[in-house]
Amino acid sequence: MKTLISSDVSLLANLIQEGKVVIFPTETVYGIGASTRREGACLRVYEIKGRPKDNPLIAHFHSIESIEEVCVLGELGRKLLEKFSPGPLTLILPKKEKSLFPKELDTLAVRIPKNPVIREWIRQTGGPVSAPSANLSGRPSLTKLTDVVRYFEGKVDGILIEEEPSYGIESTVVSLVGEHPILLRPGSIESEELKTILPDLILPSPFESSPVLSVSHIPLSPGTKYKHYAPSAQVVIASSEEFIHSLEVGFDPKETAWIGFSLSGNEGKGKVLSERNDFLSKEGEGFREFDHFSLVSTNEEYASKLYAFFEACDLAKIQTIICEAPKLGRGWEGLRNRLEKASRRN
Ligand code: AMP
Ligand code: MG
Repeated sequence: MKTLISSDVSLLANLIQEGKVVIFPTETVYGIGASTRREGACLRVYEIKGRPKDNPLIAHFHSIESIEEVCVLGELGRKLLEKFSPGPLTLILPKKEKSLFPKELDTLAVRIPKNPVIREWIRQTGGPVSAPSANLSGRPSLTKLTDVVRYFEGKVDGILIEEEPSYGIESTVVSLVGEHPILLRPGSIESEELKTILPDLILPSPFESSPVLSVSHIPLSPGTKYKHYAPSAQVVIASSEEFIHSLEVGFDPKETAWIGFSLSGNEGKGKVLSERNDFLSKEGEGFREFDHFSLVSTNEEYASKLYAFFEACDLAKIQTIICEAPKLGRGWEGLRNRLEKASRRN
C-alpha cells in the first residue's frame, strides 16, 4: 500500500472521509485514526495495531460544541472541557448518537487535541476521528515521526506531518458515566487539578507509589513480561541512590541504558563514559549513534523523552533500561504509571 506522507490537511482529511486510515500527531503521542462513523475503517485500525477488540478507541473532536452534538456533556463535563481542553484530557461520556463506533457501547471516549492545525484537520474530515495511539499493541506509544514512518509506512493510507508530540505520555482519562467520576488513566492533567472540579473523583487503586524497585533484586527474565507501554528491553525503576550506584557497577556498555536526573556531575557517569569509550573504540562505529544516557531535568521533560528513548534502546538492542524514579510533585502521576507498566513482567 502507498502511504501518503504529507502536511496537506485537506488531502489527509479527504482520506478519512473516504474511509481510510491516517496517522496524525497530537500533543500527547501519535494517533492512528479513522472516521468514528465508519465501523469498517475503525476495525482496520485494530487490525493494523493488533489491538484487542475489547479496548475501545478515543474519538477526537475539534470543538466542545461538536462533542455536545453526539454525547451528553453535562455540567461537570462542560466545566472540565472548558478548563482543560483543548488538551490532554479524555472524558468518557454517555452517547447520544448510538451509531458511533463502537456501536455496542453506550459510552464514548472524547478528547480535543491541542494543536489548532490538527483540530482543523478533524473539522475537515467531518469528524470525529477515532484513534488509539499509533503503535503496535503493547509497545510504547510513538512520539517521533521517524519511528511512525519506520513502523507504519505501507500499512496505513496517510501520515499527517505536523508538530511532534510534546507531552509524551497518553491523555488523562476520566469517566463521567458512573455515580462518581473515576480517574481511569493518570496523565499530564493530574488528579489534584481535576479535583478542583471533581472533589469526589475516585482514583485507581493502588494509586500511591509502590516501593521503589531495587536494581539488584530484579531477576532479568526477558520474554516473560506482560507488555504494556513496554519496550523489548527490560525496564527497571531505580531510586536515585540505586540509579547512581548502577552507573558505578556491573556496567555492560552493549546492553544497558539510563534515563534520569542524576546523570551529571557524579563519579559514576565518568566511569561509565570511559568504559563506554573503550568499548566503542573496540567495537567500531556501529554503536556510536546511540546515546546510552538520557539526561532530564523535570518530570515533564522525562515524560516527553521517555517513549522515543525506549524506541532508540530497542533499535540498539539494549537489554536493560534503568529509569530513575520520577520526582514527587508535578508530572509524577502519569510518568510513574507508565514506568510501572513498562517495567511489569506479566
Ligand atoms: P489509547 O487510545 O490506546 O491511548 O487508549 C484509550 C484508552 O481509553 C484505553 O484505556 C481505553 O480502554 C479507554 N476507553 C476508550 N473508550 C472507552 C469507553 N467508552 N469506556 C471506557 N474506557 C474507554
Ligand atoms: Mg495505546
